[in-house]
Amino acid sequence: MKPALLIILYVATVTLPLCVSWLLAGEPRSWHQELASGFGILAYSILLAEFVLSGRFKSIANTVGMDVTMRFHQLMARTALVLALLHPLLYLGTPAGGQRPWDPTRQLTVTTDFASLASGIGAYLLLAALVVLAMGRSQLDFRYETWRLMHGVGALLIAALLWHHTVSAGRYGSQPPLSWLWLAMTVAAAGLLVYVYVLVPLRSMSHRWRVSSVRQLTPRQWELTLKPEGHQGLDYKAGQFVWLNVGHSTFTLNENPFSICSAPAGGPEISFMIKELGDFTRTIGQTRPGTIAHVDGPYGSLAVEGRREPGIALIAGGVGIAPLLGILRQLRLAGDPRKVRIVYGNRREDQIAWQEELDAEDAIFVLSEPPEQWHGETGWIDGGVLDRHFGPEELKDWLFVLCGPAAMLSAVEDHLIARGVAGHRILTERFEYD
Ligand SMILES: Cc1cc2nc3c(=O)[nH]c(=O)nc-3n(C[C@H](O)[C@H](O)[C@H](O)COP(=O)(O)OP(=O)(O)OC[C@H]3O[C@@H](n4cnc5c(N)ncnc54)[C@H](O)[C@@H]3O)c2cc1C
Repeated sequence: MKPALLIILYVATVTLPLCVSWLLAGEPRSWHQELASGFGILAYSILLAEFVLSGRFKSIANTVGMDVTMRFHQLMARTALVLALLHPLLYLGTPAGGQRPWDPTRQLTVTTDFASLASGIGAYLLLAALVVLAMGRSQLDFRYETWRLMHGVGALLIAALLWHHTVSAGRYGSQPPLSWLWLAMTVAAAGLLVYVYVLVPLRSMSHRWRVSSVRQLTPRQWELTLKPEGHQGLDYKAGQFVWLNVGHSTFTLNENPFSICSAPAGGPEISFMIKELGDFTRTIGQTRPGTIAHVDGPYGSLAVEGRREPGIALIAGGVGIAPLLGILRQLRLAGDPRKVRIVYGNRREDQIAWQEELDAEDAIFVLSEPPEQWHGETGWIDGGVLDRHFGPEELKDWLFVLCGPAAMLSAVEDHLIARGVAGHRILTERFEYD
């Protein structure tokens, strides 16, 4: 799907209840009351659309990329929070007291019915808590899986409370066509969770994988290889990632995103390069060959397939080399004659993975804590390093593919843009999904 079509679909979905309300409008009320209703309606439909922006739908995540999807998800959640806050404030000054028999369209009063107001207030407080928890998640001592469960259940509760508030208190929402529309949209949003957490795992049961090897690459990085069991494997593009579940039932929250570092042209086995970080990744070295695994994917748009640029720069920090290695391997296996230059940054020399394979390429190693005899680049991958290895020729028409820590990505991206590299020739992926 094209990004423009996705934007049109998003705007159409989010504004559909607003348009139907407008069509069904009775006597207009004062501007601030109409604005109050409009903000409430928009906040509700934006929240329902958040279920689609969870990053688990390939038609979105593979078109605009996971990073853009998740940034948009966060931006829209905050927008809905602001709209929901303004919604009651704009009603201030409107007489309250419930609906009068001579005022069927609620032109004169707003409701004071406790249940209708309580569901709205409850939804608002829950939404604020969800947004604040999501923003401060990394500082909180939650297991990621616990937070994820809370996020999903909280979102479902908010949708249910909003449905009650809208159809019982809303001037527009209480009209049957809109009550049905809201019900259909709310059920569809909940259905998306059912799809991700029930239907996809069900399908995955017949698509099992088995760990074929676990190999230590560096002191804290491992290569995990899976082979398909009784199926053809995964149809993916080099550079994409999957949700990986090793050793759990398919109905689990214990699945983590990892880029595939093998190449599609290399055969049906898929490999990952995994860095020890937290509770799952720290145990990866203990995984026994033969363990059952499940894979949901492929996702992501960090792929060079179909790109026609005459050269490709692969710039990685740490374990960010994983998807770039997949891309490099695919280019080599496919006999792609284009020039490839790799810039690979690490702290220490013993953290460099795949050194032999990369030594055979045009690779620049950058260390921020180099040993005494180090002849390569030192420090961080910054403007100076880039200027020494990419001249006007490369900057003019090469494709730049970046993956690594957020600070490195911003620095490299800013520098490339300052040097005139067009945005569409820079592909990036952060290893963060939040
Ligand atoms: C698109 C993408 C591709 C990635 N590719 C690689 C790769 O090739 N190699 C690699 O080593 N790492 C990769 N990561 C990072 C990897 O997913 C995390 O390091 C891993 O999930 C940490 O899990 P943990 O349980 O060991 O650590 P925890 O301590 O549980 O989590 C550490 C952090 O990792 C993230 N995280 C943890 N669990 C999940 C989850 N289930 N879903 C999403 N994020 C989670 C959260 O930000 C969390 O704060 C990638 C991440 C993303 C988003």
